[in-house]
Amino acid sequence: MLDIAGRSATRSCSSAPPTSTALRRNWPPGNQDSTSPPIAGSSIRSKRRIYRRLDLTFDHFGRSSSPQNHALTQHFFHRLEERGFIEERVLEQVFSPEDGRFLPDRYIIGTCPHCRFDRARGDQCENCTRPLDPVDLVEPRSALSGSTKLEIRPTRHLFLRQSALVGELEDWIDGRSGWPALVTSIARKWLDEGLQDRCITRDLAWGVPVPKLGYEGKVFYVWFDAPIAYIAATKEWAEVDPERRDWRAWWWAPTDVEYLQFLGKDNVPFHAVSFPCTLIGSGEPWKTVDVIKGVNWLTYEGGKFSTSQRRGVFLDLALELLPADYWRWWLASNAPEGSDTDFNFERFATDVNHDLADTFGNLVNRTLKFLATRYGGIVPGGGTPAAPEKRLTDVLAQRLISLCTGHDDRLFRKAADEVRSIWRLANGYLAAEAPWASFHKDPERTAVVIRTAVNLLDVAATVAWAFIPAAAEQVLGALGRAGSAPAWPNSAVAALAEIGSGRRVGLPPPLFAKLPHEWVKENRRRFAGSA
Ligand SMILES: [Zn+2]
Repeated sequence: MLDIAGRSATRSCSSAPPTSTALRRNWPPGNQDSTSPPIAGSSIRSKRRIYRRLDLTFDHFGRSSSPQNHALTQHFFHRLEERGFIEERVLEQVFSPEDGRFLPDRYIIGTCPHCRFDRARGDQCENCTRPLDPVDLVEPRSALSGSTKLEIRPTRHLFLRQSALVGELEDWIDGRSGWPALVTSIARKWLDEGLQDRCITRDLAWGVPVPKLGYEGKVFYVWFDAPIAYIAATKEWAEVDPERRDWRAWWWAPTDVEYLQFLGKDNVPFHAVSFPCTLIGSGEPWKTVDVIKGVNWLTYEGGKFSTSQRRGVFLDLALELLPADYWRWWLASNAPEGSDTDFNFERFATDVNHDLADTFGNLVNRTLKFLATRYGGIVPGGGTPAAPEKRLTDVLAQRLISLCTGHDDRLFRKAADEVRSIWRLANGYLAAEAPWASFHKDPERTAVVIRTAVNLLDVAATVAWAFIPAAAEQVLGALGRAGSAPAWPNSAVAALAEIGSGRRVGLPPPLFAKLPHEWVKENRRRFAGSA
């Protein structure tokens, strides 16, 4: 997996923003303070640390500020210019003599004409969320120096002529399949509303310089160069081991590459419309995305997460509260795929208590404890599987097919539902066959049941591995299956016969603690925010 740690984005000239308020509210993207410089090295390191702690791994963790991305972005610009897709336009823009520079919309603050909020930004009022233009602001001033001596001056910018690429873009979108309805509808909305040309330059102190006479001091708009960094990051990755890694094989007319992007819905337009325009407009055979997996919002206790108001639990603190598995499970099993998902501590505690402690944790505990106390931890031999095991195998086979489909279709809720169903299936089997009741009167039958249960636990942990790797590995380790990334159980019959008699099995400590009501109350208070 490649990840690009991007910069925050700012908008300084009209660049065909989406017209609906819902979309425009998220334009430009990036939740950072726009007056801050690019994400500093320490912040990149802290992001990497958080991903690491979440048990996410990357083949390479790239940055859009890399020299590779500078070169590639300038290459795309030259190609687009040669092919007539770049146009220069003169815009009226706010200039601050005191700052000695043009100010992007977000760098101009003033009083909102609608709600009188006195710190509204030139692109949007944070208080009433209405989109604004800098000229709407009452008593506008520079966010940098506070200067009120602002002037409107003409300045030149470059536009990507997306309107000239509409036909090709439409054909491209028509040729995609497997996109979530959310993504297709966002892409279509942009086309239906008439795709406008996009300003791709900015007056900013950081970013990729525009290689054109008269554009000294200007850089490319972050959403022009950030997606190009996917390609540039592969180049970075390949340069580590050029003998064995060929970045072009992944991007230049490949025939065996499946390309997926995972995004929040605010970033969909840049990946479904803008970036494809760049690639198609270049006239070169670059690989374009096959599937964009876009998701809706995760909200917090019925409202927005807010870093500035410290409202909501963010990953760094979340991982201090509980190990990664709790969060991974909840976030995947509640992924905002069909609609927004609201996180609240009550619901979180109820879900993880039920799924992780009562269902999976209990399955591990009751199976392995019984084996430890009754058989000294050695899987017993004897007996022959009967009708209950046949039924179990049939149901498990269906579940595994359905689970596989969920993963293949990148429907994570569905996949998590199936994993939960397999845990329940295993608990149901144990409850129905009750080996503790038959232990003395029918040892052969009990041996079959406990042997089957141990194998079922092996399957239950294997399918859980993608969601809760730490707990799954503990269970698999206890079952004598060392190493990570367990092999996928392709056949239910084979999977239930994997562990034979005589195998010594350990007893892991309790995997998940139940979250009490006090914990919910305390954290709800702690993360309620200052507003
Ligand atoms: Zn307002």
